[in-house]
Amino acid sequence: MATNKTTEKDGAPDNNREKGRLLRQLPSIDSLLITPEAEKLETKYGKSLILEGLRNVIGQYRQAIHDGASEIPSNQDILHDCQEWLRIILAPSLIPMINASGVIVHTNLGRAPLSQAAASAMAEIAITYSNLEYDIQIGGRGSRTVHVENQIKRLTGAEAALVVNNNAAAVLLMLTALCSGREVIISRGQLIEIGGGFRIPDVMAQSGVKLVEVGTTNRTHLADYSRAITENTGALFVAHPSNYKIMGFTTEPLLSEIAQLAADHHLHSLYDQGSGAFLDTTRFGLEYEPTVPAGLLAGMNIVTFSADKLLGGPQAGILCGPSHLVEQLRQHPLARAVRVDKMALAALASTLEPYITGRVTEQNPIWQMISQSGSELEARAISWQESLLSVGVEAEVIGGFSMVGGGSLPGSQLATSLLAIGHQRVEELAAALRNYKTPVVARIVEGKLLFDPRTVLPKQDESLLQAIVTNVKMIS
Ligand SMILES: *Cc1c(COP(=O)(O)O)cnc(C)c1O
Repeated sequence: MATNKTTEKDGAPDNNREKGRLLRQLPSIDSLLITPEAEKLETKYGKSLILEGLRNVIGQYRQAIHDGASEIPSNQDILHDCQEWLRIILAPSLIPMINASGVIVHTNLGRAPLSQAAASAMAEIAITYSNLEYDIQIGGRGSRTVHVENQIKRLTGAEAALVVNNNAAAVLLMLTALCSGREVIISRGQLIEIGGGFRIPDVMAQSGVKLVEVGTTNRTHLADYSRAITENTGALFVAHPSNYKIMGFTTEPLLSEIAQLAADHHLHSLYDQGSGAFLDTTRFGLEYEPTVPAGLLAGMNIVTFSADKLLGGPQAGILCGPSHLVEQLRQHPLARAVRVDKMALAALASTLEPYITGRVTEQNPIWQMISQSGSELEARAISWQESLLSVGVEAEVIGGFSMVGGGSLPGSQLATSLLAIGHQRVEELAAALRNYKTPVVARIVEGKLLFDPRTVLPKQDESLLQAIVTNVKMIS
């Protein structure tokens, strides 16, 4: 009786009966698995993943029916959803992008794109055995860093060199191995943060070194260093302030003066050069960037630098200096923890070759970008403009500036030509381009979206134009 009463009141059992009927109509996993489409998916992705996908999708349809949906999906619908589920869970997170920002060494966008030769060298070593730590002549254990050491010695003039995982690791290893427990003197103007949390004072603390700051933010004299030297001093340390610039009333002693002072007191002189510049940047209309060989010529004992900034290679850190000190670095336990991998070594060896043959501006992508002429850049921007116009998208070509970036040459700009697209909803267009299948990063200035041909790799031209056309037409 009571049950009948309830039925009359809210109709719940009817409702439940209808839901049960719908749920029973959902195809079974077994029946789905024997469809040709599922078999194709299974060949490609394996049975357990397909099962998980089908369970997941059917689970969602069951939930939808519980929530009041009255339609039964077809087998096709379910398999399509399963394929979409697979696509999402298997999609790589790290994907190629188009850098139209005009910032050449963009740390957030992976710094230096490698040359094809370096990428091929890397790929070849990746899929085979190699003599990474094997001495072919003696038929026994060898050392992984010999593979690029001769090249680095030739390029820097240093007696010895060591390659590690990155420059942060190089600085940490240098300070730990050579100065732990001692005082290290640094100018206040160089207590820098490189970005991504690399702060010189923190690295010094981590290495067990006592930081002794001298001078002021804008002015430090040689006498400030000499006054700070005590019997506990281990080294004089210079960090190239690569991502900012102090202008106006400033002074720092010359590297050669610091190196001499250190030598006079039997101290190490350590130089974190950072950018890995080997070419004279003033040749390209940039400001002067101290080079790695210049640091060694000035007499600094150890010079460290990144391989993926201006050097234009893979992620790595390079230390160079006299054999007895580099040997100390090599022997330190930390060296094992920060060692470089075989693929980076292969790419590095290939990256260094054009430096030795004098073909860097022709063969290294970073230096190809830096050395592109104004007329080449203008011609490229105009060709983009014409392609876009031919499909009804209007754009102008205007003058502007590219930047070297990546914590190199702060404030130094290179004249360029930019493709400029004016748009009512420019922020929205920029966001759509960022979220496109091959994401595009551009700059917004005064309501216009700016695309710099300097940093767009030539092989990406077509994808860029397609991305622009699709998204401009979608957001209009
Ligand atoms: C970039 C930079 C670092 C950090 O180098 P990574 O290779 O990114 O670890 C350290 N010091 C200076 C001066 C730098 O410019």
